Amino acid sequence: MSESPDKYFVVGNPIAHSRSPDIHTLFAQQTQQQLEYKAQEIPINNFSSGIKQLKQLGAKGFNVTVPFKGEAFELCTSLSERAALTGSVNTISITEEAYIGDTTDGRGLINDLQSNHNIDLKAKAVLILGAGGAVAGVLPDFFVQHVTSIHIANRTVSKAEALSQRFSELGEIQFSSMDDIPSNAFDVIINATSASLSNTALNLPATCINASSIAYDMVYAAKPTPFLQWAKNQGAALSIDGLGMLVEQAAVSFEIWRGVKPETQIVIQALRDKLLAS
Ligand code: NDP
Repeated sequence: MSESPDKYFVVGNPIAHSRSPDIHTLFAQQTQQQLEYKAQEIPINNFSSGIKQLKQLGAKGFNVTVPFKGEAFELCTSLSERAALTGSVNTISITEEAYIGDTTDGRGLINDLQSNHNIDLKAKAVLILGAGGAVAGVLPDFFVQHVTSIHIANRTVSKAEALSQRFSELGEIQFSSMDDIPSNAFDVIINATSASLSNTALNLPATCINASSIAYDMVYAAKPTPFLQWAKNQGAALSIDGLGMLVEQAAVSFEIWRGVKPETQIVIQALRDKLLAS
């Protein structure tokens, strides 16, 4: 008799929109791993008991998304160095006694830029728009790539200031409001605000971008987001959406759980085809 497949879940609230079950199912087919991966909504204020119930059902691991990444960090009994540094957990591995937490967003973004778009971040000046959980999750990985400097600009300037102070030992970080972005052009501009989710354009100065700049929006959509449209209109060298980041961060989680690195480009293409057909 064949053994029942190992169970994994992505948990969040809401969660119905998640593409993670599609991604991990494609990874499992491709690498011939026996596993089942489902989306599970957990009630707000019930994260810890929700996770424990799923553990009792035999869960071997979790991906954690909005709004539970901070609570996942609190729940874990051991943390990777990255998770400890960022204060955020999006990947939990379950053992008999332990909840082991890691964060894969930063590696997902860097892998997408490097492997899928051939972008070397070394000595680059980076502008990051936004100062939420996703920015905290990716900042350390930019410094691992030896960027020259990072400027964080956020609508609520105090959050940009807090992040720049928290990570100041990693390298050169400045901050400002969205209205006070320095007038020099940046090599790489990452939109890590959720503005594109509501199709909202940011009011950015044309001086921060030029013909060699690379624009990246963590949000993905069937059509270019308002930010990517703006970057294109300014003549940016490349404009890239966050679909690749989504698949790459999932691939890092999959490798943590299963010890096998899945092929990502074919999965990104499958998701892109589905997105365009929807
Ligand atoms: P948070 O809710 O923690 O932060 C949201 C950020 O967006 C804040 O900095 C907020 O500014 C800013 N913001 C929201 N609306 C506007 C607006 N209209 N104008 C200007 N700024 C705005 O979210 P996360 O950091 O977790 O995620 C950010 C985005 O990245 C989300 O859209 C998420 O979907 C995406 N993401 C994509 C991933 C991928 O794999 N592709 C992975 C992780 C995240 P303020 O502080 O002033 O409120």
